[in-house]
Amino acid sequence: MKTEVDLLIVHASQLVTLAGPNERPRTGGDLDTLGLVVDGAVAAAEGAIVAVGPTAQVLAEVVPSASCETIDASTHVVLPGFVDPHTHLVSAGSGGGFVATLRATRAATEDQLEALGRERLQHLLAHGTTTVEAKSGYGLTVEDELKCLRVAHRLSAALEVDVIPTFLGAYAVPPEYAQDPDAYVNVVTNEMLPAVVEEDLAEFCDVMCAAGAFTPEQARTVLEAGLNVGLDPKIHADESSDLGGAALGADVEAISADHLVYSSDDGLRSMAEAGTIGVLLPGPVSGRSVPYARARRMVDLGVPIALGSDYNPPTSPEYSMPTVVALACRDLQLTPEEAIVAATINAAHAVSAAEEVGSLDLGKAADIVILDLPDYRQWPTPSGGNPVAMVVKRGRVVFETETGRRGRRSDRGRRRHA
Ligand code: ZN
Repeated sequence: MKTEVDLLIVHASQLVTLAGPNERPRTGGDLDTLGLVVDGAVAAAEGAIVAVGPTAQVLAEVVPSASCETIDASTHVVLPGFVDPHTHLVSAGSGGGFVATLRATRAATEDQLEALGRERLQHLLAHGTTTVEAKSGYGLTVEDELKCLRVAHRLSAALEVDVIPTFLGAYAVPPEYAQDPDAYVNVVTNEMLPAVVEEDLAEFCDVMCAAGAFTPEQARTVLEAGLNVGLDPKIHADESSDLGGAALGADVEAISADHLVYSSDDGLRSMAEAGTIGVLLPGPVSGRSVPYARARRMVDLGVPIALGSDYNPPTSPEYSMPTVVALACRDLQLTPEEAIVAATINAAHAVSAAEEVGSLDLGKAADIVILDLPDYRQWPTPSGGNPVAMVVKRGRVVFETETGRRGRRSDRGRRRHA
């Protein structure tokens, strides 16, 4: 018997499946494998992928339900929704530096922060991101950190983007503790973490290990305290100098170490051994006076790499993953294939969501992006426009441009009323 489906995308000029094995993040030569199907199709029922492959094969396996949405994607690349594994999404204010953002975020209510977050998420969704990690860290008091994490949960429930919350109470030493950073570390570990866990507000515990923020010793204290209460570690590592953050991340078996601009070969080797994912953030840091992470070296050493936007209002208001992919090709010298893998399946691993999203594998969520390009090798340059024509979240069309709309074969509701 054929499976009845409610979403059917057919005749994709290129279907980028990133088909498994996907149990582990990809490294080395496996970063180059897209699982490309020419004239490809993907079908979904109740939000999950039930058939994927050449169009003729998929059409032989499935039958559209009465309300099935059928989309003709000839002349389009079809790929999994992007996963953005590193953002500072929840904040108020309009730039103006860290302290200004901290003040504005502390002053804002949950409702105000949610309204701002909604705007940002809509924008992000229009650029193909269907799963996004969101860090706290602009509160830096117990109540304000909890407030920001609650907002992340409200956003995830309200919108067609899955928001994965990370507790980053150790993002910076707040001004009121400038003379005694250790006392603030105590607040993070003894007051914030228990409260975060009590309300089940975060999946990960992150820390900024950098000169002017937290030392490697303080960072280890925070990450181990997080581990003790069940939060997997992440670390902002070696962004402005080599403090051994990469090795520290590997040592605490962090799920990811992010930035890695100044990481040593030894640090990167430790990450490769531990399987810690290197999240690279080539987006526009204001002024961009810093060098780029050594992405090619990481690939050579066997570090699994992922890409993120590092969206944050003060320095990096970039939330387009297609732009991040383009920057990774231009500035990190990744191949287009490596950059696509890093922005999808490996990014999903970096937020422990790879069983659910990041590739078009059977049983996974039907989170799908249709690009207004016939060939992924025609990816726009960093300054180019948004290539996204349509976004599907759990089998439902949640964003489309005029071009995307034209691919729809059956829009029964509209036709009935015409
Ligand atoms: Zn960050």
